[in-house]
Amino acid sequence: MHRAYVIGSPIGHSISPAIHNAAFAACGIDARYEAVRVEPEGLAQWAAEARRQEVLGFNITLPHKETIIPLLDELRGDAAVMGAVNMVKVVEAGAALVGTNTDTLGFRRSLEEEGETTLRGQRALLLGAGGAARAVALVALQDGAESLWVANRRPERAHRFLEDLASITGKTQVEALALDGPRLAGFLRAATVVINATSVGLRSEELPADPSPIQPPVLVVDVIYNPTETAFLRAARQHGAQVLGGLGMLVHQAAAAFEEWTGVAAPISDMRRAADEALAAW
Ligand code: NDP
Repeated sequence: MHRAYVIGSPIGHSISPAIHNAAFAACGIDARYEAVRVEPEGLAQWAAEARRQEVLGFNITLPHKETIIPLLDELRGDAAVMGAVNMVKVVEAGAALVGTNTDTLGFRRSLEEEGETTLRGQRALLLGAGGAARAVALVALQDGAESLWVANRRPERAHRFLEDLASITGKTQVEALALDGPRLAGFLRAATVVINATSVGLRSEELPADPSPIQPPVLVVDVIYNPTETAFLRAARQHGAQVLGGLGMLVHQAAAAFEEWTGVAAPISDMRRAADEALAAW
């Protein structure tokens, strides 16, 4: 039997095993996906022991997305510019570990398939400057957004974040601002897409910002998937926005990993159903 894993700490909350095991079952693949708690001091040993023929690969969550990089043999795709790896493929019969980042793919596919849009030509207001925000920013720049405005609680982090991405900024007009400053309302009014990539609203009713200045037609996205509709999305919907939650991004990043590991087209609807059921039982 093949094996795949998600590692992190804490890890008990992960719904990735439900999503991936549903995909293996739907495709008749003899494999099992498990969540494993790995502490920072055990990461090097984990990377050494994962080099086995029966291991397809593993996902990486907090706090290891950056510290795993020196333990890998190769980085591919968006991992280098992201400075973070969320998926490793074990290749050459266990001899090598190849890291990539599937959050960009997950966000883009969710936007295309569920939001029926892309960021090309859009004025995107991004709330947050952490890891998830970086994936969203990369998609905005790669796909040719007209503007990318990054609002963060600590605005200096948003400035640094945009400096890091300067080499791929292209023609997109970029700006950093404070999440709680007086300029935010104007950016909310001007945006055609607003994306919350802060952790505010995760299993809570808190809002990262007051969405009332938004001007429909506007798409408001939240990368948070628990709850499936955050208080921010609910409020935005009440102000006339089209809304999109983060579960599609999670499912599509899992689908990208599944396809890399198995070479089989991911059964998206089975994975989505398993994700919905796992969250309902959370
Ligand atoms: P990080 O810790 O890297 O970043 C957290 C962000 O939230 C920072 O911008 C931080 O601001 C901001 N923030 C935290 N607390 C507050 C607060 N009280 N008020 C205002 N801003 C705050 O986390 P990630 O980027 O990894 O994750 C962010 C969210 O995205 C999580 O909820 C996670 O579950 C979700 N996620 C969803 C994915 C999906 O597939 N749908 C994939 C990855 C993440 P500051 O910089 O000032 O600290």
